[in-house]
Amino acid sequence: MESLLESHPSAWPEIFKELGVPSFHGKIAARWVFQRGATSWQEMTDLPASLREMLEAQTPLQRARLVDKSEARDGAVKVLLAMEDDATVEAVGMPGTDGRTLCLSTQVGCAVKCGFCASGMEGLSRNLTQGEILEQVLWLRRAQGAFQRIVVMGMGEAGHNLDAVLGALDVLLDDTGFGLSARRITLSTVGPKNALPRIAAWGRPVNMALSLHAPDDLLRQQLVPGVANRTIAETLAEADELFVAHGREYTVEYVLLAGVNDSPEQAEALASLLFRRRCHVNLIPFNPVPELDYARPESMVQEDFAKRLRERGLSVTLRRSLGRESDAACGQLRRRSLPTDDLRTEV
Ligand code: SF4
Repeated sequence: MESLLESHPSAWPEIFKELGVPSFHGKIAARWVFQRGATSWQEMTDLPASLREMLEAQTPLQRARLVDKSEARDGAVKVLLAMEDDATVEAVGMPGTDGRTLCLSTQVGCAVKCGFCASGMEGLSRNLTQGEILEQVLWLRRAQGAFQRIVVMGMGEAGHNLDAVLGALDVLLDDTGFGLSARRITLSTVGPKNALPRIAAWGRPVNMALSLHAPDDLLRQQLVPGVANRTIAETLAEADELFVAHGREYTVEYVLLAGVNDSPEQAEALASLLFRRRCHVNLIPFNPVPELDYARPESMVQEDFAKRLRERGLSVTLRRSLGRESDAACGQLRRRSLPTDDLRTEV
């Protein structure tokens, strides 16, 4: 039987009924999992022992196993989980001044193959299911306790796996699930075809982060090859529509790469592109990855880039990077654990 995490908790009573047990047990079980932090059926002491044993045998609650874990001095914890087919994904819990943020993966590998990203190096193996995305939340909550925010910015392109991603977000948002408010969830995408319009139609006003990384189409095609068929203009137009639909400013994510996209001219070009758009710019100095040739710009260059955008009236954050000293760049923990002959070069 498939994991109950593949179903919205509002459907659990019906599923329990089909299993031949009173439907209200389904409600009790969902409360245990999403609100009380249970990670096994055995913890649910107000369910009959026979039911708990049956569930344990037929549909284990947590199916992923912990393969690796690393912890940075700033408290960021990264876990590497193996799914039932041994596919591995990573998830990160990051402390902050206003609570803990969990960063979730959406795919095993990634087809977008951004040149500066460890996750993209092996191409895409497969999509994660809704349950596998939610399992990351359960694991991190068990490792670190309560969390306040979710960012969907780990391994994978969410826009290539929207059924599972939006399904998982529905569970995170719903009162029968984790009950998070939409403004505590951030969904990141490079904006592949149809993704932003579909998220707008979904209608839950989560924060949106658009990964741009370049101020012109030619450079973006090189840095983000998975969306080489899309222009920046059409992608930004869709993001603007999302603002209309959700009423919430989006964030433009821009990884700063030394000598590639960090020049004063490129800052001016980016400022022109984003002038008068309802967005905030998040500058992310590159996290060095041993296998990649890119470098992190000097602090002065980072600050000058940010200053130029601010002088043109844009709202800008120059991000500090959590977990830098411990496998921080996305995909690094997984990559470290893979045998070399397991690395794929083609999608
Ligand atoms: S940065 Fe994101 S979209 Fe690009 S390859 Fe990495 S995981 Fe995929």
